[in-house]
Amino acid sequence: MVCSGEYLMINTNIDWAELDWQEELKNNVTTLDQLKAYADFSEEEEQKLSAVTQVLPINIPRYYLSLIDRSNPADPIRKMCFPDAEELIVEDALGKTTQDPYGDDKHDKGNGVLHKYDYSTLVVATECCAMHCRHCFRRRIVSRKTDHILKDFEKAIEYIETHPDITNVILSGGDPLILSTPVLRKMIMPLAEIDHLDFVRIGSRTPASYPLRLFDDELIDLLDEFNRKKALYVPTHFNHVNEITPTATEGIRRLRNVGITVNNQAVLLKGVNDSAEDITALMRNLLRVGVNPYYLYQCMPVSRVRHHFQVPLKRGIEIVDEARQYLDGYAKRFKFIIGHDVGKLEICGMLDGRILLKQIHARSGHKEDSARLILQEIDDQAGWVTL
Ligand code: SF4
Repeated sequence: MVCSGEYLMINTNIDWAELDWQEELKNNVTTLDQLKAYADFSEEEEQKLSAVTQVLPINIPRYYLSLIDRSNPADPIRKMCFPDAEELIVEDALGKTTQDPYGDDKHDKGNGVLHKYDYSTLVVATECCAMHCRHCFRRRIVSRKTDHILKDFEKAIEYIETHPDITNVILSGGDPLILSTPVLRKMIMPLAEIDHLDFVRIGSRTPASYPLRLFDDELIDLLDEFNRKKALYVPTHFNHVNEITPTATEGIRRLRNVGITVNNQAVLLKGVNDSAEDITALMRNLLRVGVNPYYLYQCMPVSRVRHHFQVPLKRGIEIVDEARQYLDGYAKRFKFIIGHDVGKLEICGMLDGRILLKQIHARSGHKEDSARLILQEIDDQAGWVTL
């Protein structure tokens, strides 16, 4: 088991921290023609990829592209951002897929509010992201254009104000940190005044995909100001150790310097981090840079994602159990999780040939399920459970 802590060499001399984050976004690679500068595609591949990009357009920051080892067609960073013909598969040996496996739409209260758990509310702050991750479970909404975000958000605040059971809010999307700082200010500052909120989360993949964003002093000042009024957490999303670059490390340090706790929610992804070595290296290196391993999600049966990325549950358990042999107490605090329509389920392991799950969050109206144990037969290739 190796965990060197060494970073992948960035094959460019650009000083990312010096760039204007909004200007640099305009240099994102967004077409197949541009992508050809980074990879070779046959004519047949190009036709298939063209169809793939109709469903989820290409959108890759130059920073993220710079992390790719171009000599390695199986590079894990490449797999998370390049379109792939396998995305055309919507049903296969692994089973059916759905657009919305987490059941977001059933809990949609309008104005971007998704209220699945009594105590937590998620607000879709924007549908835009610095990058389109090919494994995104909200890919049905990512990149959709909307011009009413702030107006909607005022109504979202009204909803939160009038629901005192809500103890915390997570701003998500899309990626809220892709909003300009003045817009973000208008969104988050009213939340600091809501007394029944214990804390607020801003979910962002920018620490991994676009850490340039974190070098904006105005943003850090805003987060600092907010955090002094109400505890602020940034759940982020690193999936592979190669995403933990010196630039990302510095971006995280800037968040931590103003007292923000950063927790990581990874996804187990075929061809990206599906080995005990990958998971060990990821969790250990997160701790090296001050990020807490929090969740490792089982890849959901999302249309155009499942067949490309999902690891069978039994194999996932083997990977996690083996990784835990090498991880200290802090590194193994992460939970291996199924984000299910019925709520969140911790994958505890295999027992007498069956999968053992413990429900840790139950959707509204189902409190009796919130700590239940579930034992279920699964076959070797099963990637999901039906409840
Ligand atoms: S940044 Fe997050 S929401 Fe956006 S595409 Fe990636 S995984 Fe999806």
